[in-house]
Amino acid sequence: MLIIFFIFGLIFGSFLNVLVYRLHTAEELFLSRSKCPHCQKPIRWYDNIPVISFVILKFRCRDCQKKISWQYPIVEIFTGLVFVLIGWKFFVLTDTASWASTAYYLFVASALVTILVYDFLYLEIPMIVLWTGIFASIAFGLYTDWMIISQGLTFGISKVEPLSMHIYSSVLAGFLAFVFFFALSAGSREKWMGMGDAYLVIFLGLILGWPEIFLALFLAFAIGALYGIIMLALKKKKMKSQVPFAPFLVLGTFSAIFFYEPIVSWYLGLFY
Ligand SMILES: [Zn+2]
Repeated sequence: MLIIFFIFGLIFGSFLNVLVYRLHTAEELFLSRSKCPHCQKPIRWYDNIPVISFVILKFRCRDCQKKISWQYPIVEIFTGLVFVLIGWKFFVLTDTASWASTAYYLFVASALVTILVYDFLYLEIPMIVLWTGIFASIAFGLYTDWMIISQGLTFGISKVEPLSMHIYSSVLAGFLAFVFFFALSAGSREKWMGMGDAYLVIFLGLILGWPEIFLALFLAFAIGALYGIIMLALKKKKMKSQVPFAPFLVLGTFSAIFFYEPIVSWYLGLFY
């Protein structure tokens, strides 16, 4: 079953590469065929197979022989792996209720990968993707609560604690994360943190809820610091050069979605 998620992820990753490029150049998203960014020749359908085509073509365009960026296969494989983790964590073939959450997380993961790649390439967060994700997350949160409440009613429970509701935890997490990042951004006049990141963490808070968002942000800073140290050591970046932060936030979020319990119990195990 997971192999289907992987192949589906590869194909979707290939689409997300195109999406990132077309969001940036403001091209129409679906109608026109993919083309080589160098020579503009349309890509043949048999050269459009994720990962495999890159290997067969030896990472060069069939027409102009210019190098195709490593970004393409990396994003495809990464999306494939994320989709596998979603299948592993959320999908149960015989449980139709799990299909909705699987679909939601596949959608959210696609939005997060798009944001990661876009910010990495252009130091900017694609707002249209972000708002779509925020809207979907609120809708999914309300849907989840509604399912729980309606199930509770059939079991004769008429009162649901507002604080136990999914949407409450989500909005709280999004709001607190936003306040923290807004302060970082405004306080440093966007030198430490861009305003786009403050909007991004609203989305991440809505996905994760409280207290999972806390782990995601912690990991984002940890991964970011590690990346900074490595880049300084390799002399690839200077102390002052601008580094996109959304990729770290997205990686922290994926870690928290899939591995919250093992990470927390490992961390607590360090002290007891
Ligand atoms: Zn070409």
